[in-house]
Amino acid sequence: MKLSNIRVVLVETTHPGNIGAAARAMKNMGLEKLYLVAPRRFPHAEASARASGADDLLSAAVVCETLEASLSGCMLVFGASARLRTIAWPQLDPRQCAQLVSAMDGAAEVALVFGREHAGLTNEELEQCHYLVHIPTNPEFCSLNLAAAVQVMAYEARVACCSDAPSGRSNFPGGQLATADELAGFYCHLEQAIIDIGFLDPDNPRLLMRRLRRLFNRSRLEKMELNILRGILAAAQRKAGRSGSS
Ligand code: SAH
Repeated sequence: MKLSNIRVVLVETTHPGNIGAAARAMKNMGLEKLYLVAPRRFPHAEASARASGADDLLSAAVVCETLEASLSGCMLVFGASARLRTIAWPQLDPRQCAQLVSAMDGAAEVALVFGREHAGLTNEELEQCHYLVHIPTNPEFCSLNLAAAVQVMAYEARVACCSDAPSGRSNFPGGQLATADELAGFYCHLEQAIIDIGFLDPDNPRLLMRRLRRLFNRSRLEKMELNILRGILAAAQRKAGRSGSS
């Protein structure tokens, strides 16, 4: 895995200084790709000041309107969270996260997603991540500054990706993994199909889609497998008298 294929995604950051400090933390560790989802104030002099030498990452930063857009093309997505959530979602520490990242194929893109200073990430945003990552802290004071959290995650990524261990030791010897956008399309199709066949009641969805997302995220679908599943969904929709083309 190449460090340059790791993108850091900052969601709705309020303070431009934090964006600059995060860019500096990234560059120190050899990460290059910064994505900003609806930043409150950017570009901003404070961001450049705090980047102190990492302004190249700021100028190259990709600004997106939605988290979904920022994850386009990513095969593995981690959401950093200060709080342990009420939703049960697969959870790792930064070292385990870095190990998964380093085991990815050299060409794969992965994303580390960080939340707002005051409110973190929403449950809906975490559901777009394969894993939640929590940096172990003093349980009574667990929220790190945003750039400090980026620093810890980027450091672990560097250690894992630059270790002497043989490269290319992919955990995923099969075909190419489906990307976050392909998965998002699949989840939409799945939801519509199980409504069409009468399995999901849209007026009372409960946690069904969340549970299904968790199941499929855990299995790390390949493109080919995802196409097979979509084929099955389309066939089921046709049988149920729907178009099967969604
Ligand atoms: N008050 C917020 C904390 C936000 S801190 C909350 O309760 O969620 C800003 C961001 O930094 C978080 O969304 C998360 O991405 C990251 N962060 C801060 N502390 C962290 C920790 N201990 N583990 C993982 N990420 C953390």
